[in-house]
Amino acid sequence: MLAPAIAGLLLLACSCSVSATVDLGLPHPLPADGNLFPAGIPTFKNPYAEPWYQEPPLPKNYYRGAYEHVTCPSDELVVPEDTAQLAAAIKSLRARAAAEGRPLKMRPARRGFATMASFACGPQPTLVNPFLVDGKKPMVVGLMLEKMDKVLAVDKEKQQLRVQGQMTLKGFYEAADAAGLSVPRFGLPWWQGLTLGGVFSTASHGSGNNVTHMICDWFVDVTWVDAQGEVHTSAKGSDEAFALCGGLGLLGTVTELTLQLTPSSNTHFSTWYLKPDDNLADDVEAMLKITPNLVVMWRPDLGKYTGHLQRPAPEHAPTIQGAQCNVIPQQADYQAGMSGPLLRAWQGDPFNTNTMYFAGYDTNICTLALTSAIGAPWVTKKGPLTSKGISQPVFEGVAPTNHVTSTDCGDNCVFTSKKLMSTALDVMFAFERSKLKEWVADIKALIKEDLRGIPGWGAHTRCLLPGYYVMRFGRPSDTLVGYGSGLQQPVYVQQQMMASKATPGIPSRYEWVQETYEQLTLCKYDGRPHTGKNWDRTFTNPRCPFAPKFGESFKKMVAMQDKYDPSRAYEPELWTRLAAGEGYKLKPKCILDRSCYCEADEHCADGFKCVASVAFPQYKACRPKVMN
Ligand SMILES: Cc1cc2nc3c(=O)[nH]c(=O)nc-3n(C[C@H](O)[C@H](O)[C@H](O)COP(=O)(O)OP(=O)(O)OC[C@H]3O[C@@H](n4cnc5c(N)ncnc54)[C@H](O)[C@@H]3O)c2cc1C
Repeated sequence: MLAPAIAGLLLLACSCSVSATVDLGLPHPLPADGNLFPAGIPTFKNPYAEPWYQEPPLPKNYYRGAYEHVTCPSDELVVPEDTAQLAAAIKSLRARAAAEGRPLKMRPARRGFATMASFACGPQPTLVNPFLVDGKKPMVVGLMLEKMDKVLAVDKEKQQLRVQGQMTLKGFYEAADAAGLSVPRFGLPWWQGLTLGGVFSTASHGSGNNVTHMICDWFVDVTWVDAQGEVHTSAKGSDEAFALCGGLGLLGTVTELTLQLTPSSNTHFSTWYLKPDDNLADDVEAMLKITPNLVVMWRPDLGKYTGHLQRPAPEHAPTIQGAQCNVIPQQADYQAGMSGPLLRAWQGDPFNTNTMYFAGYDTNICTLALTSAIGAPWVTKKGPLTSKGISQPVFEGVAPTNHVTSTDCGDNCVFTSKKLMSTALDVMFAFERSKLKEWVADIKALIKEDLRGIPGWGAHTRCLLPGYYVMRFGRPSDTLVGYGSGLQQPVYVQQQMMASKATPGIPSRYEWVQETYEQLTLCKYDGRPHTGKNWDRTFTNPRCPFAPKFGESFKKMVAMQDKYDPSRAYEPELWTRLAAGEGYKLKPKCILDRSCYCEADEHCADGFKCVASVAFPQYKACRPKVMN
């Protein structure tokens, strides 16, 4: 956690000793003024850090995602508190839309939703056309469900909790603790700020190779409201349940869930720490022999990975007091005050013209990634510096299962910290685990050739953003369009990186590697994009379209929509387009809102050109025209 401070000090020291006029033997001549930005290198300030700064309010009835990549426009918002209120509201909306002769579009979500794609919105915000349904302007309604977060019933005998759909994971862990019950080990995602309804509707998961690892595995029944405002309860195993799990609210809004917990349990966690990645795929198999509940975090540019293993604790093993899950990176204000400027200065210099680059920017960022990404412990406990935001790492021990699965990071998450002003770029796919070894080799080739193989000053030191590639494991999923659907043995791979929000008009650092990773995993590996993560372009890539990946399951989903929502009131524009096999629309600089992969230079940012990947020339990405 001291890395940002060290990196900041290093930079200060270096900036004193290196002059911009020193002949560094640069391989690429830069324009005479050494500056590829037409109006000079902008200085990127973090307005959040200014005491006077007030975030501009969103337009009326708009709602925005937690990462701030997506802002959804709507005509009105409905904020129900229970199933009956929502059902009544939908009946009234239908009647009103019919009276006005307008189609109705509704989307269940919440303010600060976690989805990265625009499935949480009616219209797809990156499209420039007005949003029309059958040629008419629809009545677009956001169903904001954040008040539906209560415990409804506790059945200690059956070890079941019945809760409202939008309860956060934080609330759920607290309720489970209070009832003396545990969630299944690694059976929920990483962030306690997510909601059960959102996690259920995107088939989001933890990790469990061929075992329970997602809420779709361990729910008992689900209550939901269809597009007519009718209320249903569907048991696990029913056709409706298959369509609702991972179904993005296409059938209706999930309002209540009964969940099957376990007796209170403890978990033994351990770490394969910062291991060389020479035999990564074989090491993964070795770790999976120890336990199915495994998460691997990998930095191919550093040649290292860390494995986090969880398994049942031996009976009577003492637990660590105050142990907490630390998997979501977080920064106290004073740390963010140093790493925020570092990150935005680095990202704001895509052509490597800044003196700081030659003083070791990339090396410092790699140090940051090593210490606070793959080097971070899964679990921390309270220590003498906890009040200063520094907890003690723990790499092996025993803790209550409910406390070591997901992180509660409040305002200090890397994407909520105002001082850091960063966001996450999460690109995540499922594919068959049998292909993992080949995929690992391909990612290594990508790093070798597309990150480090392109000539330039300090090419061998180039370093991806702070973050990692993650691997998690699953079992065949009981869903129609949940992203692991149809796979025999899914592996879930994710490139999760932290980028500054403070450099508009500039792609994140070395983003062409990410663009190629996406196309490679989508197309060569038949990767299915996670519907709660990812840019819209991963669902509408014309070369590797989404719907055919799901085959018969997709057709069954369409049949369920025909049954419960024939007018597609619940269907977002993005889904309508992917169901019709429509590719994304190219527009100038579409790489900046990540709505396309480039086909020509005009799709790239200023100073970038659209070129074939070196390692995988079948995929194109935007790289600088000239770079030191
Ligand atoms: C920090 C972070 C960590 C994450 N960790 C993981 C992880 O470990 N594993 C993983 O698999 N994913 C993970 N995710 C992805 C996350 O699970 C999805 O983004 C998911 O969408 C849940 O977010 P949410 O609860 O805010 O739901 P939302 O984003 O609000 O909704 C998700 C989708 O479901 C629909 N929806 C929401 N509520 C309902 C409802 N009640 N009924 C019907 N439809 C509904 C929405 O329209 C939307 O399309 C993570 C995301 C973030 C931001």
